[in-house]
Amino acid sequence: MPKAATLVIENDPATIRRTVLAARAAGRRVGFVPTMGALHAGHVSLVKAAADCDDVVVSIFVNPTQFGPGEDFDRYPRSLDADCRLLAEAGVRWVYAPPTEALYPPGDATRVVVDGPSRRWEGEHRPHHFQGVATVVCKLFSMVPADAAFFGAKDWQQAVVVRRMVRDLAIPIDVVVCPTVREPDGLALSSRNVYLSSNDRVRAVALSEGLASARSCWQQGGTAAEATAALAAPLARQAIDVDYAVVVDPDSLEPHPGDARSLPAIALVAGRVGPTRLIDNMLLS
Ligand code: AMP
Repeated sequence: MPKAATLVIENDPATIRRTVLAARAAGRRVGFVPTMGALHAGHVSLVKAAADCDDVVVSIFVNPTQFGPGEDFDRYPRSLDADCRLLAEAGVRWVYAPPTEALYPPGDATRVVVDGPSRRWEGEHRPHHFQGVATVVCKLFSMVPADAAFFGAKDWQQAVVVRRMVRDLAIPIDVVVCPTVREPDGLALSSRNVYLSSNDRVRAVALSEGLASARSCWQQGGTAAEATAALAAPLARQAIDVDYAVVVDPDSLEPHPGDARSLPAIALVAGRVGPTRLIDNMLLS
């Protein structure tokens, strides 16, 4: 991806759609990175992964329908100017930052439900979260009809839900899932890390520590139950309020069938560190 001369910020769905279609009609491959802003190096890694595209579009939209009542929608960090500076530096061509009415026009009544992979884990703890995610991503794919869309493995269940939606609805876009970017001590980068007090920042490392010990347990021949226990131990030591800490099949997200070690496995974890809810995961196999 050649560095774009100027970053263009677009708010209007019809204009961004026309622009992307014109670029593709001119033979350019367009990559798309949907985000909620408050960008960090994890988001930038998705932009870099899209660098084999001729042009990259990043959307910035804090999607109200994926937040539940009492969650952090109102105080979710918003930093459009700083985000745009970062994206200009990274060579992004267009930022699509629509107003809420562009995504949810008056009388909006349509939701996308991806039934199977949405049910467990985040789906149980955040009812309607994935309905909000699938709905906004479906709308964004219609407004930004790119060749490929880039998502982070950090939100593994979300990536599985989006892939399934794209397949089931025959949306003509390639979904690319990119590795999780971590702090040097292992904590996965997240826009929500800014909520952590300095003490909670130290405690939060328990999530990635647990995942790493689950992986080494698995790689040394441990069963899914043993890997789950290895995952749980650092969380208990730091008194993390755990929503789930499980070993599952990476595609179906169903619990891993015991000691069937030839099958792929991923460990998923979510918990509250003080008032801040964090999620993380790691492939074991
Ligand atoms: P968000 O702005 O949190 O909705 O995230 C936008 C995209 O960035 C999603 O596809 C996330 O999975 C991805 N992402 C968030 N954190 C990371 C990270 N630490 N490493 C890689 N991708 C990430």
